[in-house]
Amino acid sequence: MPVSTCQTCARVMREKKDFPRGNFSSGFCADCVDEKGVLKPKEIIRANMIRMRVKQSGLNEEEAAEAVDNLMKRLPAWNQMSKQPA
Ligand SMILES: [Zn+2]
Repeated sequence: MPVSTCQTCARVMREKKDFPRGNFSSGFCADCVDEKGVLKPKEIIRANMIRMRVKQSGLNEEEAAEAVDNLMKRLPAWNQMSKQPA
């Protein structure tokens, strides 16, 4: 079974349901891609990540947002995007 890490939220993907439409070659997890296979907007993904951390680690909203922002700064997918001219 392949194990990959989502390029946009750093979630570890192990099972078929973790991948968008069961596509093991995707670099993104099922949470970050919509039902058409298109990557969701950064703000939506960020909100999902914050909600996940509040739920799983008992952080408050502010702490979770800070952790997510720090993490996103280090993720190559967002680094590349922010280097492109708006
Ligand atoms: Zn993801």
